[in-house]
Amino acid sequence: MPGTKEYELLQKPISAVKGVTARRAALLSRCGVATLWDALTFFPYRYEDYSKIVRPDQVKEGSEALVYGKVLDVKAEKTFKKRLKLVKVLIENSGSRALGVWFNQPWIAERFEVGKKVLFHGVCHGSFSGCVQMTNPDVIYLEDDFHPDNYEGKRLPVYHTTEGLTQGVIRTVMGNLISEALPSFREYLPTDELKRSGLCDISEAVKLLHDPNKTSDEELAKARRRLVVDEFFALQVGNVLTKKVMQKENYEAHHLVPGKLIVDFLNTLPFKLTKDQLSVLSEIKNDMLAPRPMHRLLQGDVGSGKTVVAATAMLMAIESGYNAAIMAPTEILARQHYETLKKWCDRIGVDVLFSYGGMKAKEKKELLKRFEEEKNFLLVGTHSLLHVKEAVPNLGLVVIDEQHKFGVAQRAMLREAESVPDTLIMTATPIPRSLAMTLYGHLDISVIKAPPEGRIPVKTYVVTPERLPSVWNFIRKEASLGHQAYIVYPQIDESDKREAKAAAEMFEVLSKKVFPDLKLGLVHGRLEKEEKEETMRKFRDGEISVLICTTVIEVGVDVPNASVMVIEDAQRFGLAQLHQLRGRIGRGKLQSYCVLIDNTPLEKGEEYSQPLLTGMTENRRLEVMAKTCDGFEIAEADMELRGPGEFFGEKQSGHPTLYLANPNRDKRELIIAKELAEKLIDAYERGELAPEVKEAFLTRVALRYGTEFTVPGF
Ligand code: ADP
Ligand code: MG
Repeated sequence: MPGTKEYELLQKPISAVKGVTARRAALLSRCGVATLWDALTFFPYRYEDYSKIVRPDQVKEGSEALVYGKVLDVKAEKTFKKRLKLVKVLIENSGSRALGVWFNQPWIAERFEVGKKVLFHGVCHGSFSGCVQMTNPDVIYLEDDFHPDNYEGKRLPVYHTTEGLTQGVIRTVMGNLISEALPSFREYLPTDELKRSGLCDISEAVKLLHDPNKTSDEELAKARRRLVVDEFFALQVGNVLTKKVMQKENYEAHHLVPGKLIVDFLNTLPFKLTKDQLSVLSEIKNDMLAPRPMHRLLQGDVGSGKTVVAATAMLMAIESGYNAAIMAPTEILARQHYETLKKWCDRIGVDVLFSYGGMKAKEKKELLKRFEEEKNFLLVGTHSLLHVKEAVPNLGLVVIDEQHKFGVAQRAMLREAESVPDTLIMTATPIPRSLAMTLYGHLDISVIKAPPEGRIPVKTYVVTPERLPSVWNFIRKEASLGHQAYIVYPQIDESDKREAKAAAEMFEVLSKKVFPDLKLGLVHGRLEKEEKEETMRKFRDGEISVLICTTVIEVGVDVPNASVMVIEDAQRFGLAQLHQLRGRIGRGKLQSYCVLIDNTPLEKGEEYSQPLLTGMTENRRLEVMAKTCDGFEIAEADMELRGPGEFFGEKQSGHPTLYLANPNRDKRELIIAKELAEKLIDAYERGELAPEVKEAFLTRVALRYGTEFTVPGF
């Protein structure tokens, strides 16, 4: 807790550590490390084993090795077609050989001298006639008197990093940090609990993970396990405390049992609700009728029909004499909701209002005037809704669409009102159930499992770029049938040096050379809002047949007439993201097609880090997409491949990151953490925690959550 020596030290900025210059601090903060606490809990995601030297012939294909040998030959070449500069260095030890290959780093050749001793460290990518090949290995240049028997190496941690920040620098910083800060780092779990669950001391575990040196695999696993429990514990404490905050909320809404308005609404819909939609609605209804605020998460894949569920719930609030609001993360989505809801609500005489960031003063005044009028309304907006000082009056229900784009802070702002409305959070990211319960343990969860009937699964193909001409022909064919297509490029991103075909550039090429006869549109993040929206509107209205875009179209855009989606550089997307993108098609009655262009460079070296981490080649990863359209199945695979920390693609604001823990794999640890969290909070509330445990525990909560929790006593 604030005031303790531990807290004061660990919440210091990272620049307080020896060796952290302002520049390094800035780079570290890009990795999510701002304080000493952040750094201590910023764990390596793998290790490089420099502890054992092997002979080239002992290296296993696909595995990491440290190979010793004398330089036999150094070659600098150019490949003819690809115009790549290659450096090849052959080393030899007791008759067996290893070949190191570097791409486009010609200067490497000058660092070698025939006859000198070196170590190669890296992954072996196959062998040719008895000679193992390593792509871009790290090199240690040795003295002439080096002998492998006298070698003393280490196991080195590897951290997620950012451009300009080397592993060496991070390791140095971590070394300094450990000696400066770890002595103040205290165990917060009671000793008997640790013993009971077979957990080691936390400081010991932290030290081992950052500096494993020659630690045995078993010991390292034990340390990891302790910190897995720690990560889960933090989340569980957060969930339990959030629940306590919620229980103290002032709630005044009195929703009524659905009546004529709801019946009318459902009768005017062009379809019948599915079984899943109805059962989710009944859960929502029960929450809304209960004398406590609803905090429900509605999970349902893209296209599963969440909007109509939200609409029904909002109309329930309206029928009960309240206003209701729905917030979307982007203006495009908000506008789409607005149009859908307006269409539905006009028929039953309910007003739908629209609020967005760029509203003119006059529009705003108009809106505020409507707020004051008697009649109940349904308000659609972006999160700018949150910044409207004049809170929506008489709010009975808030629906938050695409929850994971909203930070905790934004959610908290909604709660500034004197009494809280019911809250329904919707997400189309099919988070694996285990992860959802870990992250959102404070929420009740509803799931729409099956999409409305009559959906035709999207046919998905993974192809290499050589096939593009026939892909373009296919688009032309579909366009001649009056259907529409998306062509998606990775987001324009300056920090990424590898060349991605920018949407804008390709728009030029495709409109002039490939589809001069078709009407094309371009949408990406850097365009003006008006331009973006105008193009989206044209696409929706069918004035544009082919939309070139970046991932701005990712969430929620609904154009049922679009039957083709081509995703270029598909290997660069996460599976969950590909799934979201693909969800834009197959929304109507047409058979739809998704073509994933796998641009993985043929030269293995450029791409090898991904399969290294995942154990899967890009192709096999993309094949998951071709195999299934079930978002939950894909989500499971994605989490399996990338771990929950990376699962969302971006660092999540508001969640303590899961670096080590994976709720799918670490089930036992999750249970232990849950029990411990409840036990400790319970003991705390009864005043039964030993003073030093209490202090350590509260300090830990404060470090993890800052001042987010304001439960009296916490
Ligand atoms: P999402 O869950 O992605 O928000 P939407 O609510 O946008 O999905 O629904 C996708 C499409 O399915 C919409 O065009 C919607 O009108 C339609 N839809 C929703 N429920 C049903 C249903 N029960 N039967 C048929 N179509 C439905
Ligand atoms: Mg939606």
